[in-house]
Formats: sequence, C-alpha cells, structure tokens
Amino acid sequence: MIIAANLKTNLTRHDTALYIEEVDKCAKQSKQEVLVFPAISSLDSFETKVEVGTQNAYPTVKGAFTGEIGLEQLEEFSIKTILIGHSERRHVLGETQEFIAQKFHYFKEQGFKIVYCVGEPKEKREAGKDATLEYISAQYEGIDTNYENLIIAYEPVWAIGTGLTPTLEDIQEIHTQLKQKSPAPLLYGGSVKVNNIKDVLRVKNVDGVLVGSAALYAEHFCTMIAYADELQLKEK
Ligand code: PEP
Repeated sequence: MIIAANLKTNLTRHDTALYIEEVDKCAKQSKQEVLVFPAISSLDSFETKVEVGTQNAYPTVKGAFTGEIGLEQLEEFSIKTILIGHSERRHVLGETQEFIAQKFHYFKEQGFKIVYCVGEPKEKREAGKDATLEYISAQYEGIDTNYENLIIAYEPVWAIGTGLTPTLEDIQEIHTQLKQKSPAPLLYGGSVKVNNIKDVLRVKNVDGVLVGSAALYAEHFCTMIAYADELQLKEK
C-alpha cells in the first residue's frame, strides 16, 4: 500500500529533518511505500527509504516566476516526486484545470512520480452522485490517466482538515468508479487518522492513503504505517 503524508505549511526545516528521520525508521521496518511531502523550504537530499516529494513546483526549469520553484531547484535535491492538483492549490490558490494539466504534462515529461489529487466540494456532494462524478471527471481533463508513474488521490474537499469523512460505502463507491478511469493506484485522503485508517484501508479499491494533519507527528504517522502492515499480514 502507499502511505503518504502531506505536511502542508507546517514544520520548520529542522523539525522536518527530525520528522523524516523518525518516519524513515518505521518505513524501513515496513512493507509499505511511504511518501512525505514537506514544505518546500524543508526540501533536502534525504537518503532515506521514505520518498520525499514536493508539494508544488512551476512547470519550468528556471526563470522569472517569483515565489515558485522549478526543475533546477528540485534537481539540486534529486526530488522526483510531486503532488499536483491538491484542493488547496485548486481552491485557495486558484489553480485552473488547464494550468494543472500543463504542470502534469511537464512533470510527466521529466519522469516524475505524480500524486494527482481529485475531489469534490461540499455543494457537489450535496447535489448527488452524478454531480459529484461529473465534477471529478472534469479534473481528469488533460491528464494522462495511463501514465505509469501516476498515483491518484481521491480527496473530497469537504473532508480535508475537517474531521468529516464519507461513509466507507461512499468511499468504495467513488473509488470503484474512479478505478474505471485509470489503472493507477488510488489513495483516499481527507481526515484519515490513527483511529480510522484501518477501516479506510480495508475498503475495496483503496490502495493507500494521503494524510494531512494526522501525519504531523511522526509517532502517529508511524502507527498508521504499522497498521497498514498489520492489515496486509492478515490478508495473506
Ligand atoms: C490533505 O490535505 O491532503 C489531507 C488529506 O488533509 P487532512 O488529512 O488533514 O484532511
């Protein structure tokens, strides 16, 4: 399974290094693929089993893009993994699907592992399943769903950082639909924490999780990684 942490705008460079060191100890004892997306100012050359990715980058090698980083800055630290389409970049920072697709194409051409996020806001969920799926389908526009280095994360916007989660049946239903759109591993994200991760990971067509706030403490994130191992052992 894939167990990923999005640290967002949290932890200093110093604390991130300690965090990654701690999580790496757990990752090394685990069979899971562990990804961590720290704040950009905390990127570094980590020689770890934990795969460190960037939460964002501009689709360019370098240039006049104030406040952004490009390929040159990522290559300095051998970063080859990127999060694209996160709801905070779509809804808070105003990234359009067209720009997101452009980013996707650029980093695909560079061979990056791409964790691509999709998910509907509350009003679409309230408008029903068809409206929800139609909304999510539009987020696949311009995306190569067969890219071999792609991981998709289904993250309902209303579940991110709110403590709310869809029912397990709803997660299964959406994941089953989304699996028809792409053969890529499909993660669930949105208020996953220590006390619900086992239930979420047991859902059919859930290949892992993307965790935000509950992953901020290495100890908690390590517990989640260990739970994923426990579940896999039981399945055998
Ligand atoms: C996220 O931001 O990707 C996320 C899943 O956040 P949280 O776990 O805090 O809902």
